[in-house]
Amino acid sequence: MPPAHPFDTSFLRDTGDDDKLKEECGIFGVIGVAEAANFVALGLHALQHRGQEAGGIVSHHPELGFQSARRFGYVRDNFTSQSVMETLKGPLSIGHVRYSTAGSKGQTAIRDVQPFFGEFAMGGAAIAHNGNITNANALRRELIERGSIFQSSSDSECIIHLMARSLQRTIPERMEDALRRVEGAFSVVAMTRTKLIGVRDPLGVRPLVLGQVGDGWVLSSETCALDIIGADFVREIEPGEMVVITDKGVESHFPFRPRKPRFCIFEHVYFSRPDSILGGRSVYETREAIGRELAKESPVEADLVCPVPDSGTPAAIGYSLESGIPYAMGIIRNQYMGRTFIEPTEQIRNMGVRLKLNVNRALIEGKRVILVDDSVVRGTTSRKIKEMILDAGAKEVHFRIASPPTAWPCFYGVDTPQREKLLAATMSEDEMRDHLQVDSLKFISLDGLYRAVGEAKGRNPKQPQYCDACFSGEYPVEPADMVEQGFEMKAAE
Ligand code: SF4
Repeated sequence: MPPAHPFDTSFLRDTGDDDKLKEECGIFGVIGVAEAANFVALGLHALQHRGQEAGGIVSHHPELGFQSARRFGYVRDNFTSQSVMETLKGPLSIGHVRYSTAGSKGQTAIRDVQPFFGEFAMGGAAIAHNGNITNANALRRELIERGSIFQSSSDSECIIHLMARSLQRTIPERMEDALRRVEGAFSVVAMTRTKLIGVRDPLGVRPLVLGQVGDGWVLSSETCALDIIGADFVREIEPGEMVVITDKGVESHFPFRPRKPRFCIFEHVYFSRPDSILGGRSVYETREAIGRELAKESPVEADLVCPVPDSGTPAAIGYSLESGIPYAMGIIRNQYMGRTFIEPTEQIRNMGVRLKLNVNRALIEGKRVILVDDSVVRGTTSRKIKEMILDAGAKEVHFRIASPPTAWPCFYGVDTPQREKLLAATMSEDEMRDHLQVDSLKFISLDGLYRAVGEAKGRNPKQPQYCDACFSGEYPVEPADMVEQGFEMKAAE
């Protein structure tokens, strides 16, 4: 057997960590401030919820050139020591945190950790990518046939090789050229010796925002990471936009054929931090509005509304406010568990979800409880939580879910189990209720979710305003690699 990875957290899989969709990356970049890498480390720390497996930072100093550090584990354990940060000097820096990308799930090698770096005739460039390239296999085959030598298993490396083959004169032009060949979802933060570059794919599936700190500029996956460094939020990078930032300011281009935006609606439900702003709306307030919609759509008589912590909390508050049923912290999450048992014994492993969540028995006993969670993926955690609540003496358990049934995998930068493993792919809502053995189970409708994110008329079925493929099965970009591997798209209605 291969030796255990020093940050092997596979034992956590039984504690519910594999029963959520996982955002695979967070990106951050800064130009125009002294020791920019320190800001990047702080920004990545604020984006840690988007990926905990590994992180990397590249910086550039006019005399020392490019420098980089890539590590497994948390930002706070790797990019706080003086010895590491002293090697990342200069006024320009980008960074990346990752969960894992296609091709290396759970067995990441350090060569898969971004930012990736390429040396071109006109100078070096580093890039950090959030999203997933849906035609990466075809591109990789073509590039290898034409002589490219790949260093990693990451789809993102295709961008560097496409840039190397471009005949354009400048790095931003080569990047435009490369990204025109790429399909799928990408938000990219890149740097040359003098430029910070940010790009969003034409549909704007993954987020990217622009901020300002003193005389410097910042690019970040989310606004919560601007707050940590005291930067002001300027605006979102628009779908299909490329910004090139130098000491002269921000230049904007739109190099792609314009498309109707399809931002990921799940960012509102779960991925983004509740203190971020998305599309001009507070994520927290949107989640509260989802809870209110859920209460209107699926009321039930009960004594308490409890969130499944932490992500179900704002929706549970919304449900409670709308229904008038008291809110209570019926389940408490142990935030530090994951770091306590790096090498767990079998006995500890078997404790499963109880390692992370504990029921507040004094509140639950004898009560009819509404549990609000953000999603049901495999249903394994939901079932265990229900057992814990019943063990604590609850009279009834009603699940209310702040997203529609997740019946389709995501191919745009979110880790999802195969379709057969998704509970909603094989069961109706009633069958799921029976499977989970709860008194009732209701999901918010797709229209209800659209209303909660600010679309008063709900979803436009002819031209959906968001990407909602994991609920609807309607993929805004065909996942070409997956179709080639046998994935069956939903038949047209
Ligand atoms: S498929 Fe779902 S998770 Fe993936 S981008 Fe679309 S809405 Fe987001």
